[in-house]
Amino acid sequence: MKKEALIVGAGYAGSVSARVLAEAGWQVTILEKRNHIAGNAYDYIDENGVRRHQYGPHIFHTSSQQAVDFLSRFTDWYPYEHRVLGYIEGQLVPIPFNLTSIDRLFEQEKAEHLKQVLTDSYGRETKVPILQLRQSSDPEVRRLAEYIYEHVFKYYTMKQWGYSAEEIDPAVTGRVPVHISYDDRYFQDSFQKMPAEGFTVMFRKMLDHPRIRVQLNTEACEHIRIDLSQQKILVDGQVFDGLLIYTGLIDELLQYCQGDLPYRSLEFEIQTHEGDYQPVGTVNYPTPASQHPYTRISEYKKLMRPDTQPKDRTTIAIEYPCVYQRNGQKGRVPYYPVFTAASRAQYEAYRAQVAGMENLLLLGRLAEYRYYNMDAAVVSALKACEAYLD
Ligand SMILES: Cc1cc2nc3c(=O)[nH]c(=O)nc-3n(C[C@H](O)[C@H](O)[C@H](O)COP(=O)(O)OP(=O)(O)OC[C@H]3O[C@@H](n4cnc5c(N)ncnc54)[C@H](O)[C@@H]3O)c2cc1C
Repeated sequence: MKKEALIVGAGYAGSVSARVLAEAGWQVTILEKRNHIAGNAYDYIDENGVRRHQYGPHIFHTSSQQAVDFLSRFTDWYPYEHRVLGYIEGQLVPIPFNLTSIDRLFEQEKAEHLKQVLTDSYGRETKVPILQLRQSSDPEVRRLAEYIYEHVFKYYTMKQWGYSAEEIDPAVTGRVPVHISYDDRYFQDSFQKMPAEGFTVMFRKMLDHPRIRVQLNTEACEHIRIDLSQQKILVDGQVFDGLLIYTGLIDELLQYCQGDLPYRSLEFEIQTHEGDYQPVGTVNYPTPASQHPYTRISEYKKLMRPDTQPKDRTTIAIEYPCVYQRNGQKGRVPYYPVFTAASRAQYEAYRAQVAGMENLLLLGRLAEYRYYNMDAAVVSALKACEAYLD
């Protein structure tokens, strides 16, 4: 294969691949339909002087030394441990639900008893998915589990996914388990830091290489077509015999021939306030939609080094999940795959159509139709590119 790569998308999957291949002598062109690099991690300084994350709050955390080593070539870091509070029965309590949450919500004697019951069943410093708690053989654990389910998971899940927690893949609700600990950090990874100058600057440095060319405002599917009968890639009608790394929607690449894959989208209402708005970077609203029609509020300046952010003003984003509609009035960005047996089968049908194409690499959260955290997207791109290095 010619050492020429065409990469669709300048997010983690595309940009990490671009850098690795360029350093190995490949000529790389990135086509990006947005007017900026960094994919959904894109951030910028807004009119209040706040570093705002355009596509929702992005917190970097990992236990992968490989991801840290790679990204540290392009950024310094600011230590930041994310803490989330949830609005439960009129109070703000730590999320994931933990022993401090119990202390805040129940009177002392009851709280001590409940903490003991949980510790006896599961031990300390453990994480238990809510569906597992609800199936406990101990009726007291089950009663507490019902309380937590009702106040933390039920309405949040319905607002986030448009489904009940039972209908959705257990891995989704399992991602935020109940934490039998006083550790109120949202993540427990060994490395929890934010790029000191933000994500976009880190990406700019990553893409700053003489063999990488980035073409913004370019909808790749207007130029690229997969000829399924001949299993060939066509670029502007000509056969392309380099490597195509595609990090966009697989259904778009294959002209929706197996139907639209379902996604959940988000709409953000941005507000400016004086001073500070809330005690932490993210407050969740696991309340019924009739009470709060949104899932969470993020205050961006709380995610960054305080001396780099304004004191007198703040920017918040109120997050409203909605159905993804590629031609709709709202919900036009595909954020989260909606996993069901049918959507997984539909995705596999798409993949099968291009399974034999050696010069097509489907990479990243859209092309692989899976949820990737940023560190996992880095590691996956590094691994995928290894196969093309001499
Ligand atoms: C709301 C939200 C919050 C998140 N928070 C966190 C967090 O706190 N921590 C964490 O680790 N991860 C978080 N993530 C996950 C993180 O965004 C992903 O890990 C990361 O975006 C994956 O990178 P990617 O390159 O696969 O996809 P993306 O970042 O989406 O990049 C894909 C790029 O391809 C471009 N593209 C797509 N199709 C085409 C086309 N046809 N032509 C040209 N360009 C195209 C897109 O415009 C985009 O720029 C969050 C995700 C969301 C949605």
